[in-house]
Amino acid sequence: MEERDFFEESETRKPMTLSCLHCRQTETYEIRWLVRKKKKALRGAVEEQDRLRFAKARSYMLRRDDLVQCKNPRCRKRFEISGVQSVVFL
Ligand SMILES: [Zn+2]
Repeated sequence: MEERDFFEESETRKPMTLSCLHCRQTETYEIRWLVRKKKKALRGAVEEQDRLRFAKARSYMLRRDDLVQCKNPRCRKRFEISGVQSVVFL
């Protein structure tokens, strides 16, 4: 059984305040996240090993965006999202 079989996947966007590394302007950006929400129960015949893994599994979000484009019209450079975790447990 794959880890992904334990979760329902969806995508969400969350606003985040980020500062451009080039011009230092702070703006709010919509960042995409992949949401893996743990299923209520596993269906069908499940081996003991998978049942234990499932019991330990937790819902989490994975950040999809690594770069954003600066909103400052005089800059418009892409910069890396820093200071934000790429995995967040729910
Ligand atoms: Zn900028």
